[in-house]
Amino acid sequence: MTSATNILIDKFGRVHNYLRISLTERCNLRCNYCMPEEGIVLRPRAEFMTRSEVIQIAKIFVALGVKKIRLTGGEPLVRKDAKEIIEDLSQLPVELAITTNGILVDTFIETFMACGVKSINVSLDSLKEERFNTITRRNYFSKVISNIRLLMQNNFHVKLNAVIIKGMNDDELVDFIEFSKDQPVHYRFIEFMPFNGNKWDWSKGCSYDEVMADIHAHYGNNIMKIEDAKNDTAKNYRIKNYKGTFAIISSVTNPFCDTCNRLRLTADGKIKNCLFSNSETDLLTALRNRMDITQLIRNNVWDKKASRGGMTTFEDYSNPTLHEQNRAMVAIGG
Ligand code: SAM
Ligand code: SF4
Repeated sequence: MTSATNILIDKFGRVHNYLRISLTERCNLRCNYCMPEEGIVLRPRAEFMTRSEVIQIAKIFVALGVKKIRLTGGEPLVRKDAKEIIEDLSQLPVELAITTNGILVDTFIETFMACGVKSINVSLDSLKEERFNTITRRNYFSKVISNIRLLMQNNFHVKLNAVIIKGMNDDELVDFIEFSKDQPVHYRFIEFMPFNGNKWDWSKGCSYDEVMADIHAHYGNNIMKIEDAKNDTAKNYRIKNYKGTFAIISSVTNPFCDTCNRLRLTADGKIKNCLFSNSETDLLTALRNRMDITQLIRNNVWDKKASRGGMTTFEDYSNPTLHEQNRAMVAIGG
């Protein structure tokens, strides 16, 4: 049974109004927690949504109550027609946002401004050049930093994402927060999540409690809790008198599934109702066969599991067989 109104609701009453669209599985970085060094096997081009299919499907989601669309990937800005897709989507009555590794931001900044894109999330896992380049297996540190500054100079709402991993960057938490001392950036520390091919092992992960303990050891009573927005996946804080803020996204130790309002559309046109869901619905093939995809979307959302794609216990979450049935993060759209 699904609702017949123009909202997307699941059997637990969660309303879904936020869609993340992956524009491509390709990427110009190879972040070690996201992608195998050799990349992933690319599907034939015909299996991916064309520009017009992205827009057609997005319009159907908007008619079903989606109010915010975030473009992601892979790296969304490496797609050749990314500019045109951003322009097309900006005509829809939605808030449009982008998650990017930052490398191509300077070539898109005019488009972002012209299209009213105000919120840009950029991955920045280290402030040390050599380390950043080791993590991403490429050499774009200076470019990413200069593009983050460019976004700030142009008054974009910038969030920086860092996946915190033991021995990789867990010694930089204070540096990340200091980076936000005089700049209005929002740094988000993300717990390391398991996906196909990323050699996940929670002994490498840093939990919310560990991250907060380190931050507390340095800043003590100067840490101030900020109110979290409804549906926020992060717990937000500010250091007294700092311009920027920081947050922890604790998908592993303290998932935020109860208030989840997110859906994902993969670059090959499958709806995924959760990052960890192994059951996808193929919207693209149905669209190409001229079927009405509205009911497929409704059914997929209705069937969303209560938590993490059905991985309710930590044992499930640590079970590599379940991750192998999922995609690599780069092919989902984080
Ligand atoms: N290429 C863009 C970027 O890097 O921001 C967008 C796609 S990327 C898959 C989106 C986000 O997913 C990034 O912030 C990245 O840090 C995060 N991510 C990737 N793999 C992850 C993992 N195993 N655990 C937690 N976050 C992950
Ligand atoms: Fe590419 Fe983003 Fe994955 Fe890094 S996190 S490999 S930039 S998709």
